[in-house]
Amino acid sequence: CGIVGYIGTKPVVPVILNGLKRLEYRGYDSAGIALGGGESGLSIRRASGKLRNLEALLADDPLRGDYGIGHTRWATHGRPSETNAHPHRDCSGSLVVVHNGIIENYRALKEELSAQGHVFLTETDTEIIAHLIEEENTVARCNEDIDIPLEEAVRRAVLKLTGAFAIGVISHEDPGKLVAARSGPPAIVGFGDNEYFLASDVPGILHYTREIVFLQDGDLAVLTKSGVRFSNFEGKPIVRSPQHISWDP
Ligand code: GLU
Repeated sequence: CGIVGYIGTKPVVPVILNGLKRLEYRGYDSAGIALGGGESGLSIRRASGKLRNLEALLADDPLRGDYGIGHTRWATHGRPSETNAHPHRDCSGSLVVVHNGIIENYRALKEELSAQGHVFLTETDTEIIAHLIEEENTVARCNEDIDIPLEEAVRRAVLKLTGAFAIGVISHEDPGKLVAARSGPPAIVGFGDNEYFLASDVPGILHYTREIVFLQDGDLAVLTKSGVRFSNFEGKPIVRSPQHISWDP
């Protein structure tokens, strides 16, 4: 339902929580956040109910890291619960995904991936995206003998999805990077001063920047500390220039 991602110079957790709060009007049943760049790989905190539950969890057990993604969930597949709250991880725990929308072919993909040995922990359609990206990494290592960049694994995975999605992905194996893809639900990228934002809607980041790119269907974005690259699902680089938002929500 709500997505906020951040990579830059500010402490990450407050940026993401503030953003998610400003998207609260959309409604949600649970929330979660994952940070990369910490000493122990990716760390995830999730809580059912209001954002204040997640905040309490973070106060008790703070997250470390210098970039991350957060999500407020409006359940479509799998009941509202901490387990089903995003971000969702792959088998090895090296990458996580947040997702808005519905993956229509998730059952078929789940069966295929299960047959390949993937074990699923949740009832969501979203979880298969994390495993699909992981599988693309495995296949590339096996067939091409290379470690493909995260954006390439995401690109190959989204080609197999039918349905509607705006996703944000981070990976411990390709750190310092936030990958986003859109096909349906809105997704935007905000440009700050040596900092970049991902969100599902303008109010989530407008208090930090007014320079915004609205991703088009079939767009993929890679946010790093030094800038943002855009491409399409065929892997071709594309140009997307930020527009200045002068209105207030
Ligand atoms: N279909 C996903 C789920 O149920 C995403 C829901 C959302 O857009 O928040 O977990």
